Amino acid sequence: MKTVNDFNFDNKIALIRVDFNVPLNEDLEVTDKTRIKAAKKTIIKVLEDGGRCVLMSHLGRPNGVEEKFSLQHIVNKVSEVIGVKANFVEDCVGEKAEVAVAELKNGEILLLENLRFHKEEKTGDKTFAEQLSKLGDIYVNDAFGTAHRAHVSTTVIADYFPENKCFGLLLASEIEHIEKVLKHSEKPVTAIIGGAKVSSKITIIENILDKVDHLIIGGGMAFTFIKAQGGKIGNSLVEDDKQELALSILKQAKEKNVKIHLPVDAIVADAFSEDANTKTEAINAISEGWMGLDTGPETNKIFAEVILNSKTILWNGPVGVFEIEKFAKGTISLGNAIAEATENGTFSLVGGGDSVAAVKQFNLSDKVSYVSTGGGAMLEMLEGKTLPGIEAMLK
Ligand code: AMP
Repeated sequence: MKTVNDFNFDNKIALIRVDFNVPLNEDLEVTDKTRIKAAKKTIIKVLEDGGRCVLMSHLGRPNGVEEKFSLQHIVNKVSEVIGVKANFVEDCVGEKAEVAVAELKNGEILLLENLRFHKEEKTGDKTFAEQLSKLGDIYVNDAFGTAHRAHVSTTVIADYFPENKCFGLLLASEIEHIEKVLKHSEKPVTAIIGGAKVSSKITIIENILDKVDHLIIGGGMAFTFIKAQGGKIGNSLVEDDKQELALSILKQAKEKNVKIHLPVDAIVADAFSEDANTKTEAINAISEGWMGLDTGPETNKIFAEVILNSKTILWNGPVGVFEIEKFAKGTISLGNAIAEATENGTFSLVGGGDSVAAVKQFNLSDKVSYVSTGGGAMLEMLEGKTLPGIEAMLK
């Protein structure tokens, strides 16, 4: 696996696919610069070598050219985060882009306009790939967040740089950390899978059963398992058509010697709201009309113990409705246990939209080993899929 560290960019143009798909507020200001920060190391490496950076990204899901999705809105933020003034050109291919690249000097950065203003970006169009490829000497893919999409700037373009292509430092680091859990982990390995639905996590669970010693299942999805085993779950979230599947997972786990940990108690509420009445009940004896919205104190103790005895931890998905303070205790307790284990030398990887949000909200980002920047891409890697953006680079 080649990275930017295997190249010398002196007097060279690096054409870097970054993931600057950042959130903007109503005034079109960047509200979270994490993804820009994440690309900084790669950009600095090229500039310090004495090279030039041409940055390409998508932003949102525009339908043709839509001003509100222009990358112009983020140029100042890019300059501020990277610490070098970024230039901008209002197209990503064609004469304007080519002239802007020709005028770029070593040590400078040029940000191209939104790739998705051209529909060809998503259709795998070879002409578009060729046009883009004219804008750099070395193609660098550092966009982990879009590595699971087979778009021109993440896959087809790589064919135009048979020798001169490599991973950026962010993408390389994401691959390395996920492989550390999936392939080179120290035992005991524990995966914590939470979130709302079994259906969205099923492929991950099936893939990781071969790789873990413990599987903690929490959140709304736990109730399908509890009901399938004959428990009373009141009005808790459930996918009735997934009960058979839940039982089959429990059986597979047993055959593979994986210990499954389901909640034993829950904070139940009479409504899905912050004003709801709450009480603690056994997970399999929830009162009619009440719903489990968080793990209970006994469960939190058991989960923490499993976590503190693990050497490798993967966390995806909250174990309760953490967005509402009343139902956040389980997720906080879990996050704190992971932080404590990490302090004791355990490797912990957190990934997937809502667990990353939880880690940020509870100020735990610096207390876990690695927080993945790519939601969908990370989940697909955990599902055991080869991401097109990674495959294109290894061809
Ligand atoms: P996911 O996107 O599948 O990871 O699900 C994350 C969502 O699951 C969060 O918005 C949580 O509020 C929600 N969630 C977690 N636990 C529960 C629960 N017991 N009942 C309903 N929703 C839950």
